[in-house]
Amino acid sequence: MTKHPIGRFAPSPTGELHLGSLTTALASYCHIKSLGGTWLLRMEDTDSERCDQQFIEQILIDLEVLGLHWDGDVIYQSERIDIYNDYLFTTLLPLTYACQCSRKSLAQYWEHQSLEQQDETDRLANRQRYPRCCIGAGLSRQQHKLRIQLPDYTIGFIDGIQGIQWQNPQHTLGDMVTRRQDGMINYILAASIDDGLQHVSHVMRGLDILPMTTAQISIMEAAKLPNIEQWYHLPLICNTEGQKLSKQNLAQPIDTRDPSQLIATALQLLQQLSVDMDTPARMLNQAILQWDNAPLQGKQYLDIPNT
Ligand code: GLU
Repeated sequence: MTKHPIGRFAPSPTGELHLGSLTTALASYCHIKSLGGTWLLRMEDTDSERCDQQFIEQILIDLEVLGLHWDGDVIYQSERIDIYNDYLFTTLLPLTYACQCSRKSLAQYWEHQSLEQQDETDRLANRQRYPRCCIGAGLSRQQHKLRIQLPDYTIGFIDGIQGIQWQNPQHTLGDMVTRRQDGMINYILAASIDDGLQHVSHVMRGLDILPMTTAQISIMEAAKLPNIEQWYHLPLICNTEGQKLSKQNLAQPIDTRDPSQLIATALQLLQQLSVDMDTPARMLNQAILQWDNAPLQGKQYLDIPNT
């Protein structure tokens, strides 16, 4: 028996929604609702330095105004730190180790290596990989950052938009830091645990997260959490200069004064059939009925049309 489909939108409230994050919200909403599923909302606010209550409130207001109503209560990762630590110190314990390498000491290490390793291919393959200097050093887990050993073999998964993917998590991420020395929990660890605990079956998110997906698959498996059934990585939205819209590029926050027009624009960007101009709720109902991933397939970028 297939499980009830559960999708989610998981913004990091480090800024307001922009057209890029809005299309992710809209696509994941319409897609999961077209399957008759549940759409959850999770605030990924573990980074207290960058996240802000004001952004959380604005995201909630924007979603409401656009008629993107989530099911159940909003989950805040900042309130779940004990859960992530629990996993790090129980189920995931055999895979984690404390590390005292600083960015500077690692940069020096790589500089030395690149002199020795003349082979460009080796150097590129090892670029991201933490050289495991601290593994077995017996450092205190409470006083240092924690890394997790990720598999060093190729893992494949089917992406409903990008097609079949093969990644070696050691090449894409290496033994990544899961908890900083100050206790801050890394994003992909928290997302993996929550997707598992929330029984998410369909993950639809931006293509920028694709390099982390096999790390997530590995962490979920090691944590004995249920698998994600379907992955979808959406093309990134680019501005008229061809740059990816992101908070780093100071993408404009969405303007929800005309929510129906905004929905129409976002659906057009997502290459969906147009819907009749109406209230947001009716437009979304029509968009759900017409939802189709096919026009997005194989695309990495979507351009905002010149107006
Ligand atoms: N929190 C991430 C972001 O805002 C998205 C994570 C995810 O969907 O897995 O970019």
